[in-house]
Amino acid sequence: MPPLPLPPHFYTPFLSVLAKERKPSPIRGLYPLEAKPGLISLLAGKPNAGTFPLTSITLTSRSPTDPDGAAQLTTEISGQELAQGLQYGPTAGLPSFIEWVYGLQEKMHGRKKGEGWRVTIGGGSQDVIYKAVSSLINPGESVLVESPVYAGVLPMFQALHCDLVEVETDSNGISSDSLRKTLESWPASKAKPKVLYTVPYGCNPTGMTATIERRREVLQLAREHNLLILEDDPYYYLYYGDLPRPPSYFALELEQPEVGRVLRFDSLSKILSSGLRIGFVSGPDPLLQAIDMHTAVSSLQTSSLTQTIAFALLNQWGYDDFVTHTQNVSAFYRAKRDVFEAAMRNHLEGLVEWDRPHAGMFFWFKLLLDDDDSESLVRTRAYENGVLALPGTVFLPDGRKTAYVRAAFSLLDGDQAEEACRRLGEVVRGVKGA
Ligand code: PMP
Repeated sequence: MPPLPLPPHFYTPFLSVLAKERKPSPIRGLYPLEAKPGLISLLAGKPNAGTFPLTSITLTSRSPTDPDGAAQLTTEISGQELAQGLQYGPTAGLPSFIEWVYGLQEKMHGRKKGEGWRVTIGGGSQDVIYKAVSSLINPGESVLVESPVYAGVLPMFQALHCDLVEVETDSNGISSDSLRKTLESWPASKAKPKVLYTVPYGCNPTGMTATIERRREVLQLAREHNLLILEDDPYYYLYYGDLPRPPSYFALELEQPEVGRVLRFDSLSKILSSGLRIGFVSGPDPLLQAIDMHTAVSSLQTSSLTQTIAFALLNQWGYDDFVTHTQNVSAFYRAKRDVFEAAMRNHLEGLVEWDRPHAGMFFWFKLLLDDDDSESLVRTRAYENGVLALPGTVFLPDGRKTAYVRAAFSLLDGDQAEEACRRLGEVVRGVKGA
């Protein structure tokens, strides 16, 4: 027997005032009625597709099983499939693509369709993360974020004037001890946080992956302290560690007595295309309904065409080739990591400290300087010396000074990695007066 899903009313106290006030779109809510056989619909203001000029799209792609080979895969999008891609579609996403995601989540996370969760497709994961945040958080509320934290979510919380409560991280990912201490010493006078935000694999910016033990403890604490977990996981498929990949929160939740505390965000940006703008959120229906209502008033839906293109490619591959493709991609980034780390050893040994990432595309290193401020060095001296990286301060909720720096190695070839580290080493050595 799988664990039972939490009931719909469980989520009511988690929803923001804005989410509760938002009404379903009066038109979109009626769309399902159009499926009645024989019905003549005068309902939707859809443009007549006969006026659309595109008649077919041919997709040509490398084969996942032979990515360096000359053979290319070709598939054509035309007829009914193209018509669907060119027209307005359901707010949550194209049904065929959503079905594909159900199959994927079962394969990767052991979560079966129909067991208390569903899927919504977004314009990148950022889109659905933002909609989730605005559906869950009221202005001024406390939110738990791992620290350092993905800088792309900070403006969401800052615009709501949230009290951002930092949960420490280390080389094993988010610290469950830090989370426990924070929650157990929470002042009685202050409303407790409802949400924890974390990036569990190849974290942006630290590159670290949370161990299974940490994940289990975090889930247990979420249950004890009534939290929802926002599992932002765009680097899941970029795991290249030597050990087997630890299960996601979405998967581990199945070990709990009930499921429904995890809202999981996936992204196709790092594995298919970032310009395609496709991500998806998997989680309990009441939360996804709130996200959909946001979409219905903002963009109406995620582009039907990009969903059609993504689905055509993925469906042609099937799940096995998809997994093969993600393994190829992660092996690519592992090689990039090794090249960059070798360059760091050559030029930065003794000047900076780092932990080796096992997923993703970032090194997070500490400058071994007398003061704790990487910003002036990175923004001025390093830049003048021809190398640009991100000062760690941008990943800290309060923007305090830090000795850390984030270096993205995803785009560099061997010579560039070598030269970037040499230039950085020159600057650090100059500042140290060595
Ligand atoms: N979350 C994290 C941690 C990221 O690093 C990124 C991309 N920089 C995103 C979300 C947004 O990704 P997407 O392209 O799917 O919107």
